[in-house]
Amino acid sequence: MISVAEALALVLRDLPRLEGEMVPVPRALNRVLAEEIRSPREVPPFRNSAMDGFAVRADDMRGASADAPKVLQVVETIGAGSVATKPVAAGQAIRIMTGAPVPDGADAVVRVEDTEPGDDRVGIRVAVESGANVRHPGEDIRSGDLVFAPGRVLRPADIGVLASVGVSVARVVRRPRVAVIATGDELVELGQPLGPGQIVNSNAYTLAAAVEEAGGEPVIIGIVSDRPEVMEESFARGLRADVLLSTGGVSVGNFDYVRSTLSNLGYQESFWKVAQKPGKPLSFGLRGETPVFGLPGNPVSSLVCFYVYVVPALRTMMGMTEVHLPAVEATLVEGVRKAESFTEFVRCSFEGPRGDMRVRSTGSQSSGVLRSMSVGDGLIVGPPGVTELASGARVRVMMLDPGAGSADPPA
Ligand code: AMP
Ligand code: MG
Repeated sequence: MISVAEALALVLRDLPRLEGEMVPVPRALNRVLAEEIRSPREVPPFRNSAMDGFAVRADDMRGASADAPKVLQVVETIGAGSVATKPVAAGQAIRIMTGAPVPDGADAVVRVEDTEPGDDRVGIRVAVESGANVRHPGEDIRSGDLVFAPGRVLRPADIGVLASVGVSVARVVRRPRVAVIATGDELVELGQPLGPGQIVNSNAYTLAAAVEEAGGEPVIIGIVSDRPEVMEESFARGLRADVLLSTGGVSVGNFDYVRSTLSNLGYQESFWKVAQKPGKPLSFGLRGETPVFGLPGNPVSSLVCFYVYVVPALRTMMGMTEVHLPAVEATLVEGVRKAESFTEFVRCSFEGPRGDMRVRSTGSQSSGVLRSMSVGDGLIVGPPGVTELASGARVRVMMLDPGAGSADPPA
């Protein structure tokens, strides 16, 4: 059986890359840039004031002090968005607001707090250097500067940066369409009554949500019965997407026909079974260019495999460079036993302050108990080769909650 590291390497080896599409920048949050963005203009675009105050000539201010203010004639007042109609001549000042263009002739701005303003005169109580409180064109970004490289996942500040340089549409990577097929004669859709022996097809909804969270577009194909003669049609439909995920039917049970069905459709399996818990029966391969994950049916196994394998695959296809979920180190509060030859992903929750992160197993690790996934914050990664993670040990934890919050205010 191959290791988690070997399986991940095989998954990431031959993935296709998705092409780009143009989207309006205001709609591009969380999308992945597919192009390099160079600034078509300077930011700020013109010389402007960093303060509310008076635009002056620094030379006029030599020797100014609180005891001996320099008195200047105020010839105009300008706010942000307006331009002075005259230059500042020797002995003159223009009253100026933050963001307004610094008038010709002036080379510094004195803060209003350092002046004694009158109606058409102002007393300046400090000497200023040329350039004081003046923001220069191109100070933040020069025309032609690299603003973002391809692969950047756009955050709110990035949207603002693109807007400030005047980029209104950007090429981002198309969202991958991810088909989800649930196999199993016991399954019924949400909202339908349960007959004897039946359960809700929860995996399809879990995985569709996980696909959305990962930036993809889920396409739920629906429930497929465990009969090889009817499975092929649904799988063929699923293979029209960019990625196909199926759940169930990949173990060694009597009705596990997923691999043979896929194989009839041209699936080249690159591995089946990984030395991991949960998720041992995972099958992965390509059909043509299309990556296919035969995820196990157990709800926890399929979701853990999604986080460990499908997330990095989707991110790679989208051109991202940091493809794995973030991991942190934490101190284990209570020892956990594990199988020696397997990597174990132990559902866990955090305790204590973030600076001193402590972590505890959520209890039952049965792969049928989805609730242990829902109450947990992460997965402790128990490496192969050890039979126990001791109480007090430092462990690696994959973080699963992108919307994590805190009850404590920042200050
Ligand atoms: P299988 O891998 O098909 O043998 O399924 C393993 C376990 O997962 C069984 O208990 C199934 O009933 C359960 N299971 C399979 N598919 C789903 C699904 N779509 N939603 C919820 N549970 C499922
Ligand atoms: Mg089944």
